[in-house]
Amino acid sequence: MLGQNFLIDSNISKRIVDSAEISEGEKVLEIGPGRGALTELLSSNGNLIAIEKDKWLAVVLKQKFKENVEIIEGDILKWDVPPIDVIVANLPYSISSPILFRLFSYEWTRAVLMFQEEFANRLVAKPGSKIYGRLSVMANHFVDTKKLFKVSKTAFQPQPKIHSQVVKLVRREPDYTLDDFETFEKVVKSIFTHRRKKIRNCIKLTFPNLDLDNLNYMDLRAEILMPSEIAELSNSIFRLNLK
Ligand code: SAM
Repeated sequence: MLGQNFLIDSNISKRIVDSAEISEGEKVLEIGPGRGALTELLSSNGNLIAIEKDKWLAVVLKQKFKENVEIIEGDILKWDVPPIDVIVANLPYSISSPILFRLFSYEWTRAVLMFQEEFANRLVAKPGSKIYGRLSVMANHFVDTKKLFKVSKTAFQPQPKIHSQVVKLVRREPDYTLDDFETFEKVVKSIFTHRRKKIRNCIKLTFPNLDLDNLNYMDLRAEILMPSEIAELSNSIFRLNLK
């Protein structure tokens, strides 16, 4: 459950840390430092906090980095993240999604994160692609995403079953405004859960009492809509729901 695949290729560790382009004085968070492959390189920055759930790894890390890193033994899914500039992590893959969406509720500027390749591809996918979906649209609400480089499974010990991908995320406001975030989440879930159905049929299932006759995009499928168009749809539904 802890997803402990440790990086053993020091070139990859260096590329990840270099990609974060950390300036002096920036506050850095590492999630899941493990045996310290990234921590070692990040620790030259004076403001590093690292949170590790594994008790024994945390004990060893506290010893090793006692001079210059604040090691927290804890669970990122329960910890209140203080304001941070940069996040760097080789995440435990089984909980990438809950970690990512929890991070979106805190304050930070950019992140360099390693995910399973398949998850990373869905995260950065654009409209028109078969893998563009709920993950791509919800992440796009909070960040710009960019794939940086692929990492072979041979860079880890033990080796995972699949390759990994490093992604850079930069916080920014979306290019639309929302009347209600909860309605947006509900609409995104609805139209991508049955992605082969027309949007009208998806929305009917989720909002059975709404009159959809005057709404845009009803005869299309979700995978071709831009996030801003989905936001427009969500705002129209929110207003109809108020009536
Ligand atoms: N950063 C190290 C590296 O690159 O070699 C380790 C990466 S390993 C894929 C993931 C790390 O996250 C493990 O050390 C694991 O114990 C830790 N971890 C797993 N779940 C966690 C959680 N909920 N909160 C904090 N750390 C967690």
